[in-house]
Amino acid sequence: MSVPARPPTTVFPVALRELAVARVVEVTAGMRRVTLTGEQLGAFTSADGTPWPAFASPGFDDDIRLLFPYPGESEPVLPLIEDGRVTFAAGRRPIARAYTVRRHDPRAGELDVDIVLHGDGIASNWARTAAPGARMHIAGPGKTRGLLMGAERLLIAGDDTAVPAIARLLEELPEDTRGQVLVDVGHETHVQGLRGPSGVDVTWLPRDPSAPLLAAVRAIDWADRTWFVWLAGEQAAVQEIRRYLVRERGMPASAVDVTGYWKRGAAHGSRARRS
Ligand SMILES: Cc1cc2nc3c(=O)[nH]c(=O)nc-3n(C[C@H](O)[C@H](O)[C@H](O)COP(=O)(O)OP(=O)(O)OC[C@H]3O[C@@H](n4cnc5c(N)ncnc54)[C@H](O)[C@@H]3O)c2cc1C
Repeated sequence: MSVPARPPTTVFPVALRELAVARVVEVTAGMRRVTLTGEQLGAFTSADGTPWPAFASPGFDDDIRLLFPYPGESEPVLPLIEDGRVTFAAGRRPIARAYTVRRHDPRAGELDVDIVLHGDGIASNWARTAAPGARMHIAGPGKTRGLLMGAERLLIAGDDTAVPAIARLLEELPEDTRGQVLVDVGHETHVQGLRGPSGVDVTWLPRDPSAPLLAAVRAIDWADRTWFVWLAGEQAAVQEIRRYLVRERGMPASAVDVTGYWKRGAAHGSRARRS
């Protein structure tokens, strides 16, 4: 069997859309689901006369940028969009945070983002108090990739921030998929019910220094099978697991899809890298 790998990335022109909060619900004690709605989720023409297609999110880990005002201000600094690419005017940069498109329902004209309440951060703080009617500008998705293909087994792993993508992936995987999901969450009250193929085992690991995600990955019975690994979460933690898989286990780098979703001690999680 050939080495499994994700299909190539498809790039979209980035649209800037002005939406509003339709509702906010508590998914768990550590996560709020914000549903956004608005006419600009459909095809629309921006103020400069540019026509934009309707919002689309074909991939389970597509992300959008939420744009926030600077503290004490009411309007966000918006990026400039030229030929579908994001550029920045001289001066202050937009405050943007990346969030997975947990659900997009074109018929209802809604999209959901599930936001981890993690302490002190612009996005996390906003999610704590966001209420119906609040405005939110979004940009993207700017790219998408298809579902994982060609592996006998999938390992899907991450922390709380990866749960929206993992949940969506589980809902979209073919029923005959076999594999394992490992989720490292901040607290046992952050565990949520996930629906997925019966051949995919889901294990929650309420964060415990004695049983980190890496230990759970090491404990997997890899047997003599081809695996594809999707991994997202705190940058250093996921890179450590990647090193284990590629250097110690000898997995092909193309079969290990790793993205740092946030970096301990650093704001601007949206700058985290995929490798
Ligand atoms: C492609 C992509 C998709 C993502 N999808 C989601 C998603 O669906 N849901 C989601 O909740 N997050 C998601 N993230 C992560 C999110 O963008 C970051 O957690 C972001 O930093 C949160 O912004 P903030 O303004 O709340 O905190 P920031 O201002 O960025 O950071 C403030 C402080 O909080 C710390 N911090 C940031 N995030 C966390 C965290 N999760 N836990 C503990 N400490 C943290 C930082 O290290 C920093 O010290 C995604 C990131 C990427 C790159």
